Amino acid sequence: MNDTKNIIYLDNNATTMVDKKVVEAMIPYFSNEFGNPSSIYELAHEAHDALENSREVIKEFFGAGDTKEIIFTSCGTESANAAIRGVIEANPTKRHIITTKVEHPCVLNTFKEFEEKGYRVDYLNVDENGELLIDELKTLVDDDTALVAIMAANNETGAIYPYEEAAEIVKSINPNTKVFIDAVQAAGKIKLDVKNTKVDLMGISGHKFHAPKGVGAMYIKKGTIIKPYMTGGHQERALRGGTENVPYIVGMAKAAELAMNALEFENKTVKELRDRLEEGILENVKNAKLNSRTKMRVPNTTNIGFEYIEGELILLHLDKLGICASSGSACTSGSLEPSHVLRAMKTPFTSLHGSIRFSLSRFTTKEEIDFVVQNMPLVIKKLAKISPFQKELSGILN
Ligand code: PLP
Repeated sequence: MNDTKNIIYLDNNATTMVDKKVVEAMIPYFSNEFGNPSSIYELAHEAHDALENSREVIKEFFGAGDTKEIIFTSCGTESANAAIRGVIEANPTKRHIITTKVEHPCVLNTFKEFEEKGYRVDYLNVDENGELLIDELKTLVDDDTALVAIMAANNETGAIYPYEEAAEIVKSINPNTKVFIDAVQAAGKIKLDVKNTKVDLMGISGHKFHAPKGVGAMYIKKGTIIKPYMTGGHQERALRGGTENVPYIVGMAKAAELAMNALEFENKTVKELRDRLEEGILENVKNAKLNSRTKMRVPNTTNIGFEYIEGELILLHLDKLGICASSGSACTSGSLEPSHVLRAMKTPFTSLHGSIRFSLSRFTTKEEIDFVVQNMPLVIKKLAKISPFQKELSGILN
């Protein structure tokens, strides 16, 4: 339940409400404990200790083995850029990189830049359920492959990708190829255990798990060499210059601690609510189709296509009812280009433009879900009446 009056917030893959306990944990570090963690006088000790205690918590959150493997960043986009650019530039003789067709733009657009510079780039496919075809790696990785970047969970469909297995495949062909995992949508929803994988780098973002926007982290396996893309002071082992944002890092660590404690709740209660929403809509709205039927999905996400209806119109009508959802990812909404993820899944054109992502959080209530289930058929019927596809929609108007 949100404190925001009359709002049912089902867009938690775009961003989340900051947990009040997170705000409380941050407050002292804006005022009384404002010291620069690199300074040596007494005032700075508390900031330094808070930074290092946070690193310990974030290490646990990644399931990493050593705090030296954790670097703080400003967001998921920065973590991805630091990893991709850092690995490629540390291996200037290698000219081949691999990712998937369904990554977030922070990975896809960075890869595009290297493609334009002449790098050979391969993109893994997904099937119609949104499952990643990792076996394609077996014929793509070669001696020239510097990097493979794969997301742990897709932001639009919630599909979980078997990144541990993908890393095994990559390393069995070329042990020197580095593997970067964008775990922004997995963190807080599924357990991360990076030390027991062959993954070299992993990125997360605080605002996807009830910390504020503007803080993230990355895991860099011991011994992995990357060229720092941001040069500056000695902070973060000289891999990411710039005075650390202590209050936000403390907030992210608190949010990570709360998320680790809530993992069971997320995978039982939040999942039950997601399934209730999904089943309620599929039963009551005749033109609704589930995009991505894979069983391997994060517990909070569903993506439903409403045939022959424009997604942006659905969102506007939901907004009038105080319901926040999304069509495509947050970063691409505003443009009417159909989602690159659904296109890669070969989602039929009948529902490609009318697909809506609902993403829940541990604050979502049963009452909120029931309100959406009740109102969805009314919204769709209203829009069906003004749709140019009267013949195709005649069945749902009865
Ligand atoms: N990666 C994924 C999978 C995402 O969903 C997002 C944001 O939606 C990002 C990266 C970017 O994270 P940030 O907004 O913290 O830059």
